[in-house]
Amino acid sequence: MNTWNAALKAGAKLSTQELMDQFVVPTYRRFPIALQKGQGVDLWAESGKHYMDLGGGIAVNALGHAHPEIVEALRLQASSLMHVSNLYYQRPQAELAATIVGETGPGKVFFCNSGAEANEALFKLARRVGHDQGRFEIITATGSFHGRTLAGIAACGQEKVRQNFGPITPGFRHVPLNDFEALKAAWSASTIAVLIEGIQGEGGIHPAQAEYLKKVREWTKEQNALLLMDSVQCGFYRTGRFQSYQRLMEGVAGGEDFLPDAIGMAKSLGAGFPMGAVWIRDAYADVLGAGSHGTTFGGTPLACAVALKTMEIVKRDHLDDNARNLGEWMKERLNGLVEKYSATLKEVRGVGLMLGVQLQEGLSAFSGAGDVPSLKATEALAEAGLILIPSGTHTLRFLPPLNLTQDEAERALTIFESVIKTIS
Ligand SMILES: *Cc1c(COP(=O)(O)O)cnc(C)c1O
Repeated sequence: MNTWNAALKAGAKLSTQELMDQFVVPTYRRFPIALQKGQGVDLWAESGKHYMDLGGGIAVNALGHAHPEIVEALRLQASSLMHVSNLYYQRPQAELAATIVGETGPGKVFFCNSGAEANEALFKLARRVGHDQGRFEIITATGSFHGRTLAGIAACGQEKVRQNFGPITPGFRHVPLNDFEALKAAWSASTIAVLIEGIQGEGGIHPAQAEYLKKVREWTKEQNALLLMDSVQCGFYRTGRFQSYQRLMEGVAGGEDFLPDAIGMAKSLGAGFPMGAVWIRDAYADVLGAGSHGTTFGGTPLACAVALKTMEIVKRDHLDDNARNLGEWMKERLNGLVEKYSATLKEVRGVGLMLGVQLQEGLSAFSGAGDVPSLKATEALAEAGLILIPSGTHTLRFLPPLNLTQDEAERALTIFESVIKTIS
């Protein structure tokens, strides 16, 4: 008999942390907080402690926790049709695909359940396009993150995700982001695609430069290769536009005509309901034909109804503009804090509601053996009631819901400043 059953029999109550530590595979180093309930940007632990959640479950909870209209959309759809096989037609998937195409550009959509799966579909699309020409190589950026599948870890521009999982899936090369000459130097007769995050998330909030994107678009076109974008974290209106490149290319000559060949999406798409999608430009939209790819759960009526409702609310309430304007305001405020606490904070990066604050190196508050500054700072912030997401060793990410209000942002920044003050 396992401990749980034994403990149940003995009438003991094991804590959530004890149970998870014993029965859940330890792929995550968890903070010692058991979350129980959320409402908007507010989050409560089992202990009753209150937090402001400006991590949004890592850029997932686009409308915060327990949004009443999302709860209602879930309830309504679940009570009529939760799942049907992709062997049949259904309305929510039809309308969501049309909506995503409308927000992105002429093409079609493949539905899946996560970011890793969305990128996996991008890789298969590129391989299928290049197959008959013997081209298969995909170039990605150093520091990039593209998911945890075997091909995903090969695509990531971070060695640590690949360690001890060899042999690694062949066909991926990595070059520094925003270095066009490096991309050209890495090009070979086997190259079929380039994959770029509009703004690197896990890598520490590093935006791609508009001029770079433009050159890569022209180059890939010349080479008859695909430009793929990973919008899993930076997409879904977080920058003020549906796709981050749409925002990044604003003000650039010809920027509004910029269009990649395929885009991976997930995270915020279902506002907390698991869902992923791939938009594929019309020229390649029929490459993955019947039988070439698929997934049981991708694009269920339930996931699509929730995503559709989320997009409807974002548009109706102008949350794209809110992400843009409130993001600008927060960035200004954070830049002010960088000036004020320059010994502790190095810089602010990012666009809209995807912001990263980088800590200075060698802070005495985090000089203990094995201290990772971003983790220690996240812990201190949580202790003070603010949840942010660590990124790399020195960056703290703000990835709040798109309906965050200025008052909430103000309160969160007050907590943030109080903790930074203590660290300093
Ligand atoms: C989170 C993330 C992924 C992986 O998404 P999962 O849903 O965890 O599989 C891929 N790319 C980027 C840019 C991400 O941020």
